Amino acid sequence: MIRGKCPTCGRAFEGPGLDALPHFPFCSERCRLVDLGRWIDGDYSIPGPPAPEPPIVPPGDEADE
Ligand SMILES: [Zn+2]
Repeated sequence: MIRGKCPTCGRAFEGPGLDALPHFPFCSERCRLVDLGRWIDGDYSIPGPPAPEPPIVPPGDEADE
């Protein structure tokens, strides 16, 4: 018995062997193509814009009396 978790949709699946899971480690051909499309679109190779940094509060600017 082979168990797997589809990296595309996160669905857990299992089968008697790899012969019964032609799309392993994906659950279906659709998910396999979706993952392939991600690579082609460059989602994995082009990082997104960096998160904006929080505004810097200069030290000593707080009311401390
Ligand atoms: Zn899937």
